[in-house]
Amino acid sequence: MRLSQMFRTQRFVLSIEIFPPKTADGDTALRQNLQTLVEYDPSFVSCTYGAGGSTRDRTLQWCREIQADFRRTAMTHFTCVGSTRDELLSWLDQAVAEGIHNVMALRGDPPAGQEAFKTVEGGLSNANQLVELIRQTHPELGIGVAGYPEKHQEAPSLDIDLQHLKCKVDAGADAVFTQLFFVNDNFFAFRDRCDEQGIRIPIVPGIMPITDFARIKRITSMCGTVFPQGLAMRLEAVQDDPQAQFEIGVEHAIQQCEELRSAGVPGIHFYALNKSDACQRILDAMHLQEKA
Ligand SMILES: Cc1cc2nc3c(=O)[nH]c(=O)nc-3n(C[C@H](O)[C@H](O)[C@H](O)COP(=O)(O)OP(=O)(O)OC[C@H]3O[C@@H](n4cnc5c(N)ncnc54)[C@H](O)[C@@H]3O)c2cc1C
Repeated sequence: MRLSQMFRTQRFVLSIEIFPPKTADGDTALRQNLQTLVEYDPSFVSCTYGAGGSTRDRTLQWCREIQADFRRTAMTHFTCVGSTRDELLSWLDQAVAEGIHNVMALRGDPPAGQEAFKTVEGGLSNANQLVELIRQTHPELGIGVAGYPEKHQEAPSLDIDLQHLKCKVDAGADAVFTQLFFVNDNFFAFRDRCDEQGIRIPIVPGIMPITDFARIKRITSMCGTVFPQGLAMRLEAVQDDPQAQFEIGVEHAIQQCEELRSAGVPGIHFYALNKSDACQRILDAMHLQEKA
């Protein structure tokens, strides 16, 4: 099913994001965790595209597996990093030939060791160009794009970042999936500002349950996510106790998700980090099936 149809026909579009593991053991663990997560009937499972296309084949391989073995709609992430327009087109053709109908269209981050994003000769500079390219060449594909409630780290202001988001929407995106955040009020303010900009496609909050404080600190420092001081202090206090960190993280995510759902969000995109235990606890607490 394509993204636009999901949002038209489903009351709540639950999605799970995974990344291609680097080892065979990681693959085995992910299969087990996905088996648990598909029981919650996600509308789709998306698979990330590694920096510089480093997981190009593995991303497609996982998308195939999601559809063939787990019987879920897959969405492939896709970035402009390191590829010419022709290379992007050939990869898109391959994805379509493999039965993938949805793409998360991204510019991508600079590869490790490179300070700023560099457009390759004959390549694309921003995600709006990728959305345009996909719409021109594969009009049938569902397209998701990234949104940043707390501003993309390179943007000079949230207003300018929102104008750029509007370009992606005008180019033909079907839905916005946000960067992870821990402060719902920042998401609500962003949603209002999107509305003022005339962005009228579904805006889906991205939630990453905190299961390991050190790892989350690394991730949030890279993407500039606001970490509430109270939450940080509670986690600091239990930094030698992984189970206590997990419990605090899950409790926070449950509160976030309950509040977001009450505020009428069209779905939630879980950054599951290839694990199932935290998402399972959150989804159990949300009772999505009963509310559907
Ligand atoms: C839901 C989600 C999934 C993600 N999945 C992946 C993944 O699988 N692989 C991966 O490598 N990364 C992924 N990322 C990270 C993403 O690639 C980075 O955040 C990247 O830095 C920006 O990508 P973008 O698509 O938002 O870029 P853009 O929308 O192009 O924005 C990048 C920056 O350029 C500015 N900008 C945009 N358009 C213009 C314009 N026309 N002129 C001037 N400036 C402009 C924006 O304000 C912003 O500061 C994901 C992010 C999210 C939120």
